[in-house]
Amino acid sequence: MNYQNTLAFAQQLDEQDELKNYRNKFHIPVINGIETLYFTGNSLGLQPKSTAAYINQELEDWAKWGVEGHFHAKNPWFSYHEQFAEPIAKIVGALPKEVVVMNNLTVNLNLLLVSFYRPTKQRYKIVCEAKAFPSDQYALEMQVRSAGFNPEEALIEVAPREGERTIRNEDFIKAIEEAGSSLACVMIGGVNYFTGQVFDMKAITEAAHQVGAYCGFDLAHAAGNIELKLHDWKVDFACWCSYKYLNSGPGGVSGIYVNEKHCNNTELPRFAGWWGHEKETRFLMEKGFKPMKSAEAWQMSNAPVLTMAAHKAAVDIFDEVGMEKLLKKQRLLSSYLEFIIDDINSYLTTHHSSPNTQHPSLEIITPRNWNERGCQVSIVAHGYGKNLFNKLLDKGVITDWREPNVIRLAPVPLYNSFTDIYKFGEILKNNL
Ligand SMILES: *Cc1c(COP(=O)(O)O)cnc(C)c1O
Repeated sequence: MNYQNTLAFAQQLDEQDELKNYRNKFHIPVINGIETLYFTGNSLGLQPKSTAAYINQELEDWAKWGVEGHFHAKNPWFSYHEQFAEPIAKIVGALPKEVVVMNNLTVNLNLLLVSFYRPTKQRYKIVCEAKAFPSDQYALEMQVRSAGFNPEEALIEVAPREGERTIRNEDFIKAIEEAGSSLACVMIGGVNYFTGQVFDMKAITEAAHQVGAYCGFDLAHAAGNIELKLHDWKVDFACWCSYKYLNSGPGGVSGIYVNEKHCNNTELPRFAGWWGHEKETRFLMEKGFKPMKSAEAWQMSNAPVLTMAAHKAAVDIFDEVGMEKLLKKQRLLSSYLEFIIDDINSYLTTHHSSPNTQHPSLEIITPRNWNERGCQVSIVAHGYGKNLFNKLLDKGVITDWREPNVIRLAPVPLYNSFTDIYKFGEILKNNL
C-alpha cells in the first residue's frame, strides 16, 4: 500500500477498518484532560468497558450464594477455568485440553520447568536468549541451581551477532546442535520483549527434538499478538500472561500450554495440588495424586474467579473478533507506523545536518518482515535521551522507554487507530 503522512489518509484507513468499532469497547485513559495516544498494549492492555460487569457478576453471585456459588453461580466457580479452554486454544493454536488458565506467569514458568527441566549429569543444559526478560533469567538461574548445577555452565545464552540487533534463528539452532546430548531444554521468549522480534518457534522446536531435548516458550509478548500454532509445531510447553495483549488487567491470570502427549503421561514429574487431581474423585479427598489427562493437571489451586472474570471479559472480545482479523489489521498498523518513522527520519536527515556531529536519527530495530514481528516496533532514538520520552508523555503519548535510548511502541489492532499513529508522528516530529 502507498501510505501517506497526512491526517486525511489516516482517517480514510480508519474509515475502511472493519474493527473500527472495537475502540469504543475500551476505556482510553484521559490524563490531565488529554485523551492519550496509548501505545503500551504490550505492557498493560487497556480495560474493556465490559470488565466491570463481568467482575460484578461474580461479586453478586458471591453475595447471593456464598459457598453455594461454586455450583450455582451463573458461571459456576468449580469449573470457571474450563470456559477458557476453547477460546484460549484458538488464540495459541492448541487443543482445548492442552491449555489451562492459572496463577501468574513466572509462577507458571517455574512449574513447567519442574516438569520439563529434569537435568541429569549428562543432560543438564538450557538454551535461552541472552538478555531475556529478567524474570525468566532469574527463573532459569534458580532452576539450574536448585537442581545442583552451575548456571554459568548450564545456561547457553544466544545473543545477536556483533553489530546486529536481533538474534538469528540459525544461531539458536547451531547452539542447540552444538549442545547435542548435553541439552535438557530450550526456553526462550517467542517474541523478544525488547526488539519485538518473533522467533521461528517451529524450527527451534524441531532442532531441540532432534537432539532429544524439550522445547518451551514464554509467550508473554506473543499471546494475542501473533499467529501461534503450538500444537502443530509440537512445542512441549509454553506460558503467557493475560495483562499485555490480552487486556485482562494488572497482574491478571496466566495461561499454560502442555503438548497432548505430555498431558497423557501421568508419570511426568510435577508439583501438584487438588485442582490437578482427577475431577471425578477430587472430592473423595483420598490419598494418592491422580493427575487429570490435560493441562489442568498442572493446576494446584481452585480458580481465582475475580481476576478470571476480568480475563473472561477480554477473551470474549478476542473470540468474537478472531485472530485472523486482528493479524490483518495489525500488519497494516505497524507498517503505517514504520512508514511514519521513516518519513520523520528523512526529515531529520535534511533538517539537522551539521558536518561535525553525528546526525540524530531514528533506527527501527524490529524486523520489518511481517513473519518476524507482531504489533511492537522498537526504535533507537540516536542523539536523544529520556527527555524525549518525557516530552511525549507531556503531550499525552504513552510509550515505553528503555535506557539508554529505546522507545517501544505497540499499536494494537483492537483499540489503536491509524489516526493515533498519524498524531503520534506529528507530536514526535515537533519534539525532536
Ligand atoms: C511481562 C513478562 C513477565 C512478567 O512476569 P509476571 O510473572 O507476570 O510478573 C515475565 N516474562 C516475560 C518474557 C515477560 O514479557
